[in-house]
Amino acid sequence: MDREHVLKQQVALVTGASSGIGHAIAQAMAHAGASVVVNYHSQAEPAEALVGKIRQAGGQALAVKADVGQEADVQRLFDETLKAFGRLDILVANSGVQRDAPIGEMTLEQWNTVLNTNLTGQFLCARAAVQQFRQQERSEAGGRAIGKIIHMSSVHQVIPWAGHANYAASKGGVDLFMRTLAQEVAAERIRVNAIAPGAIATAINEDAVEDPQAREKLLTMIPYGRVGHVDDVAQAAVWLASDAADYVVGTTLFVDGGMSLYPEFRFGG
Ligand code: NAD
Repeated sequence: MDREHVLKQQVALVTGASSGIGHAIAQAMAHAGASVVVNYHSQAEPAEALVGKIRQAGGQALAVKADVGQEADVQRLFDETLKAFGRLDILVANSGVQRDAPIGEMTLEQWNTVLNTNLTGQFLCARAAVQQFRQQERSEAGGRAIGKIIHMSSVHQVIPWAGHANYAASKGGVDLFMRTLAQEVAAERIRVNAIAPGAIATAINEDAVEDPQAREKLLTMIPYGRVGHVDDVAQAAVWLASDAADYVVGTTLFVDGGMSLYPEFRFGG
């Protein structure tokens, strides 16, 4: 099969796709031949612009507003996906937020917002995807799996992060949720995996990436010596969703330039 069209005739839903990593994944999946649902939370304009770009390049796409932490919104998101494209083959549960604070100052609202989007949102979307995969016939193009789910985690599913307890707890939760779900549905040929990005330049971390001093400090934590680009993650997502990864089940793919390799130990231990 043409390498560029490894997701031909498949339908992909990407949450939080109006910016950053999700935006790049939606674009890369469209480039790989998938019809793409571009979910957004509040920024309609970049989501519609991406849809326009995909259509102009001959692809199929649709923008749908939904809050992944709200059950009724997620139901509507999946209903609209089916109405537009008739099926679903790939879910990329990418939406995520940070509300940083030292633990003594962290409000319940900050805690709940992060857990609700980053963990409950992943549950609601994954549940809806599994229900949909079970109802539908195999795609003509035949992914060998009947459906694929990719959870967007973070290196902070394993690296503790002072000042970000809500975020680290949510991503740690994503890890065990992903592995449990993978174990539960693998026999149905539903493949569930995760990607754990390290430091990727997006809006979520622009303070650490744009400020020269903060950037220098950040680079000491990345053995590969550069900050990641959204396409580093997007290419990994296309591969993970494709049949080339058909035997990859319940794994987290770290796309982090070595950030999770205890970089301080390069200088002795
Ligand atoms: P980003 O802020 O550009 O993207 C997050 C997206 O999630 C946005 O489009 C936002 O609108 C959407 N979103 C937020 N709340 C939502 C909700 N309730 N419902 C639907 N969508 C919602 O940042 P990003 O870096 O592209 O982050 C994408 C994912 O990657 C997140 O899960 C984040 O935790 C993860 N991640 C990012 C990095 C990094 O360095 N950038 C590292 C590790 C993990």
